[in-house]
Amino acid sequence: MAVQRMRSLEAEMKCPGCDAEVVERHLGLQVVRAEQGEERLQATYACPACGLSSAIEPSRDKLKSWWLLTKGAMLQAEGRFQEALSCFDFLLSHDPRSAMAWYNKGCALAKMQRFSEAVGNYDQALVIDPQDTEAWHNKGHALRRLGRLAEALGCFDSALLISPKRETTHVSKGNLLLAMGQSREARGCFDQALGINSRNSDAWLGKGCALAQSRRLGEAIECFEKALAVSPRDVDSWNFKGKALEAAGRPLEAMECFDRALVIDPENLLARERKERLLARLSRA
Ligand SMILES: [Zn+2]
Repeated sequence: MAVQRMRSLEAEMKCPGCDAEVVERHLGLQVVRAEQGEERLQATYACPACGLSSAIEPSRDKLKSWWLLTKGAMLQAEGRFQEALSCFDFLLSHDPRSAMAWYNKGCALAKMQRFSEAVGNYDQALVIDPQDTEAWHNKGHALRRLGRLAEALGCFDSALLISPKRETTHVSKGNLLLAMGQSREARGCFDQALGINSRNSDAWLGKGCALAQSRRLGEAIECFEKALAVSPRDVDSWNFKGKALEAAGRPLEAMECFDRALVIDPENLLARERKERLLARLSRA
């Protein structure tokens, strides 16, 4: 990818190739080691419209912010969430318009199971950058964890309005609808994801669950098989396939599925429980 130097600095950034607007979210930050061994931060913007990559020379203040953003992201990747939070807080204390800092802080809080605070931080990010699909998607997940399902659904819809081809959001929306007992609408979401990528095993798993919820067991089992053809070590798919086979009156094949799940994950409680229950049922029969 050609790297062109961007004309303007952080105010009103435009792609030099096509004039599309680029925002902080399109920023790529990379630490590079110079010849003398000192570290330097390389900042590039990837244009969302034409894909052109542009190097940028930030102001001193912006450079400081971006170092903190990089440091926070590295700490977060190492699971050091409290330290990451301190990084983002320090950044926001002198650069409160950094949507990426708010967004990343939201992610760190969500990892710490502090979902209510996470939602507040995603909101701050979205006030500055309302087109941030990731922030809408993650806000939806945090709201779901808080049991605010209708609001979560609204967030997934907002994400899909901006990025209609985002498979993972279609799958998340489908799983949410499943939890709300709306299996037909859920199936529509999984079909959308599969229309984009027919090898999305999470979408096959979800579609199988939606069909099982509507008692269409034969079709559900076929979907679980498709999920397993892509991800043969997915314990959930084995468990759900087993459950559907058992409901369809095929206990021996169901047992095989629970056994497969337990070979992959011997600690899996669900597989063990279902296997024991099935064994008890068969011994009574
Ligand atoms: Zn462009």
